[in-house]
Amino acid sequence: MQITNNKVVQMHYKLTDDQGNVIDSSEGREPLSYLQGAGNIIPGLERQMEGKAAGDKFKAVVEPAEGYGEYDESLMQVVPKSGFQGDMEPEVGMQVQVGTQQGTTIASIAKIEGEEVTLDMNHPLAGMRLNFDVEVVDVRDATEEELAHGHVHGPGGHEH
Ligand code: ZN
Repeated sequence: MQITNNKVVQMHYKLTDDQGNVIDSSEGREPLSYLQGAGNIIPGLERQMEGKAAGDKFKAVVEPAEGYGEYDESLMQVVPKSGFQGDMEPEVGMQVQVGTQQGTTIASIAKIEGEEVTLDMNHPLAGMRLNFDVEVVDVRDATEEELAHGHVHGPGGHEH
């Protein structure tokens, strides 16, 4: 069975950056399950999964535009240190929740200068070319319920 829209796919993957550093991997874990065509995984990877079958092993290179987006300088924001609540002392690299007009997002603290804290709201993998080593483990039809919910149920998926 080939991967097309509305198939449930189980896959093992290893994600590396251009220097070969492993960013994420399913090694030693259950395979990742997702619903093809539902936007469960990044667009550039989903597109390259199309037509593959169980047992296929391949490399998929995903450019930032089809991954986590280009790095966007305008997503840097300077806020006063006094805006941090309670006794939390901001540190570079720390992840913080921030409210934006689009809702809550996670930012990381990029820089601290005096009373000014620079927040970076880019995704940590923004601007990065992603190199996936993929092994397709299983392909099956999605159930009506999975299609209605837009995600996979059962092992490796949603439990509810
Ligand atoms: Zn569900």
